[in-house]
Amino acid sequence: MLIRLLSFALFQGVGALLAAIFMRVFAPLHSGAVVSSLVGALGATYFWLLWDLSRGLRVMRWLRSDQTREVAVQSGLWGEFSNRIRRLLRNNERAVQQRDERLQEFLAAMQASPNGVVLLDKDFRIEWFNESAALHFGLDARRDMEQHFANLVRDPSFAAYVAAKDFENDVLMPGRANTVSLPVRLSVHVHPYGEGRSLLLSRDVTAVEQAEAMRRDFVANVSHEIRTPLTVLGGFVETLQTLSLNESERARYLDLMAQQASRMQSLVSDLLTLSRLEGSPLPSAHEWVDVSLLVDQCRQEAGELSRVLWGQTHSLSFEIQSGLSLAGSAAELHSAFFNLIGNAVRYTPAGKSIRVVASATPEGGALFAVHDQGMGIAQEHIGRLTERFYRVDRSRSRDTGGTGLGLAIVKHVVQRHGAELSISSTPGEGSRFQIMFPAHRVQFQAAHAPAHALAA
Ligand code: ADP
Repeated sequence: MLIRLLSFALFQGVGALLAAIFMRVFAPLHSGAVVSSLVGALGATYFWLLWDLSRGLRVMRWLRSDQTREVAVQSGLWGEFSNRIRRLLRNNERAVQQRDERLQEFLAAMQASPNGVVLLDKDFRIEWFNESAALHFGLDARRDMEQHFANLVRDPSFAAYVAAKDFENDVLMPGRANTVSLPVRLSVHVHPYGEGRSLLLSRDVTAVEQAEAMRRDFVANVSHEIRTPLTVLGGFVETLQTLSLNESERARYLDLMAQQASRMQSLVSDLLTLSRLEGSPLPSAHEWVDVSLLVDQCRQEAGELSRVLWGQTHSLSFEIQSGLSLAGSAAELHSAFFNLIGNAVRYTPAGKSIRVVASATPEGGALFAVHDQGMGIAQEHIGRLTERFYRVDRSRSRDTGGTGLGLAIVKHVVQRHGAELSISSTPGEGSRFQIMFPAHRVQFQAAHAPAHALAA
């Protein structure tokens, strides 16, 4: 401001001085020196105003242009004015850039969300959506922006949800990729916000729904499995209470009751085994279980089962590589091995042969296999055998004390030991159940030891 006042005074002073000199040189006889100085000062004032205006115009032109990096005027009031404006613009630019970066980070976070996010304006038109939403609803960023969401997603339950405008809860609907063989279920929830805008969130709940359906089926199956022997037991109790029976009839009824009780016991025991397998930490990779000892125990139990079920034994042969150890839980491995051997005994008529093999593989792993000459299993059942309560021959399973959970237990144990179960079978000829253990769970104490054969 001081410079401005000084320049103004300087212009006037120089103007007055120049007018006075002019009068002195060109009209020395005239005596109006004061008047001419005043006129000179006035002229200089106009000149100063013009000069100031031209600087102001330069600043104005500079402001109108996009190039605001270099100021148009360096000095004086206009210079300072330009500098301050430039600083303000720069701060503003920086703030906008920071806000832009934060917005991009925010959008990237929403993009990374496994849930679908759609931003809708007050007319329910799409403003933005993330990848998951694109996948859930089959949206295309180039085609569908600003489209009415309800025109693109035409599921009747969703249409009714939007029409009711009651967004308290979510709505369940099929996803875009939904097919009969591969169902996709979405939970969609609209959250109104701001002035009439909406945030639409979608979540893939296929796995949750399937787990819930499995849980329902499981409870229904368990109830059914328990109700059947309970009903039979109840019937026998009633018979014993109401009829006067002789000693042998009484003994026969009590025998049948004991069978039903033992069936329930087996079921509860298998259920507990399954729940232990699901809830306990993975088996140790450092505790070594001697396969010969384990299979030896199974061999005795299999012989016993064979005698109890069939009155005579099968031709049971065991080819176990000595010195073979597996890392894991002895109880779990025993349960898996005996379930497979027990099934072979239960589903193979007496007199036929059952062969159990445990040996190292050339890759450093180990296999445990049970071959039988039983009734075999049709191909369409094989993929489902490890499902809980799945039975091919329901009556044979029940008659031999089966719970329908044996192979489900085997599958769990196999998975927990990082192994693989494979099943092959030919109806009428027999079946082969095989577990392959990975190399890190296998150890030999005596390398190249030959397999030793045992016959029951
Ligand atoms: P279960 O207690 O009924 O035997 P599992 O889960 O052990 O239940 O087996 C499921 C079904 O698989 C059995 O009901 C049976 O129909 C079939 N199965 C299992 N092992 C054999 C086998 N070795 N030979 C023929 N069928 C078998």
